[in-house]
Amino acid sequence: MQVWKFGGTSVGKPERMHSIKNLITEDGNRKIVVLSALSGTTNALISIGESLKSHNDAEATQKINELYAHYESFIKELYSTEAGYAEGKAIIEKEFSFIRSLVNIKPFSVKQEKEIVAEGELLSTQMFEAYLREEGISAALLPALDFMLIDADNEPVLKFTEEKLGAILGQLTDKQIFITQGFICRNPRGEVDNLKRGGSDYTASLIGGAIVAEEVQIWTDIDGMHNNDPRIVKKTFPIRELTFEEAAELAYFGAKILHPSTITPAKMKGVPVRLKNTMEPAAYGTLIADKTSDREIKAIAAKDNLTAIYIHSTRMLNAYGFLRRVFEVFEKYKTPVDMITTSEVSVSVTIDNDEHLEEIMAELRQFADLEECDKDQTIVCIVGNFSADKEGIALKVLEAMKNIPIRMICYGASEHNITLLIHGKNKAAALNALNERCFLYEDAMKDIFSAP
Ligand code: ADP
Ligand code: ASP
Ligand code: MG
Repeated sequence: MQVWKFGGTSVGKPERMHSIKNLITEDGNRKIVVLSALSGTTNALISIGESLKSHNDAEATQKINELYAHYESFIKELYSTEAGYAEGKAIIEKEFSFIRSLVNIKPFSVKQEKEIVAEGELLSTQMFEAYLREEGISAALLPALDFMLIDADNEPVLKFTEEKLGAILGQLTDKQIFITQGFICRNPRGEVDNLKRGGSDYTASLIGGAIVAEEVQIWTDIDGMHNNDPRIVKKTFPIRELTFEEAAELAYFGAKILHPSTITPAKMKGVPVRLKNTMEPAAYGTLIADKTSDREIKAIAAKDNLTAIYIHSTRMLNAYGFLRRVFEVFEKYKTPVDMITTSEVSVSVTIDNDEHLEEIMAELRQFADLEECDKDQTIVCIVGNFSADKEGIALKVLEAMKNIPIRMICYGASEHNITLLIHGKNKAAALNALNERCFLYEDAMKDIFSAP
């Protein structure tokens, strides 16, 4: 069994849903199809929630009407029969009457906010299943809320998915195609919750891990993981192969094509992940597995909006226990540290979530001197094969960065990552300069970028 996930743009137009029907049925294999919401829907639902939170009911109602109109015209093109259209209409009426009912709930809490954003995936999957039925394809619609669960730390409970989904699939041995919602799940209070923005990729990988799928395929609007951010850099190329570690670093450090946690469950269960282009299905895409190519620098990604904290020990040189005390503070506030550099008496770290910044700084000040922290920092992450006996890699990176101020550098933490911290305003310049020096300049590019 395979797990195929289609993102927002892949389901965002009626004709895209038509082509997905062909894609998922062509090979005749059993698969679980995970769908995102139609592109733009999750943003619209979040914005409706914001209007309701700020007691602007008239504005919320107007936004709901606009979204409803979009779905009304979508289903006119999605279905070709009257019966199909009637089914589609019934689905949107039901879901929009739920959305409208939330306007009257006061106060509008986080619980309702989560319920409203879940509507995108609930709509897309029901509409698609009804379309398949119209086309004579009998697929089973599996409610993700029955088998996707997060714990009190917002971490998915894979064991729960293994058991629940295993039992559901055990009852449906005659079915070939299963459709389910990406992104949405329940929390320990039994409420509707989600896996954060872009979370449908994570759903696919969690399901793939739970059933130990043959492969997880992430279908999107680009032909695989590119060597650099295609939204910022002009000449980028798809990478044919990445290891789980390399892909995880790129996803975590900003390659938007994958939700940051996608790789973890797949890697844990040894399930390969393939990135494919819905608009160009014949393109090779990227295969993420254990195998790697010899290329040294493979790809670059960047993660924005980080805060750098600079901590100096108030005690003498050779003091031990200092780092432990520093990290205990971050642990206490459940704040992950992304990047660390140390000298004998100082340690600098970056954090992504600055919700508890004030408390963290106050506690650190009890045993350390702190400099003013820097906001709007960007991590640039360079990924590849950097085994300790290789020479010249850091030189290439630093040459590229010769005109860009660097605040922190990490090299040697693993054999596949060099990380730089720069000011956010220099991100585009840094990504372009690294692309010029580390890729366009290199003849060796051909072996990983050429067609099969
Ligand atoms: P989906 O809606 O299918 O989940 P996303 O918008 O989340 O799609 O992810 C695909 C987008 O990720 C691409 O259109 C591209 O602009 C962006 N992206 C950012 N970095 C990379 C990268 N290194 N390789 C490929 N795409 C990337
Ligand atoms: N619809 C959700 C989002 O826009 C999840 C996803 O698309 O992966 O974030
Ligand atoms: Mg995405």
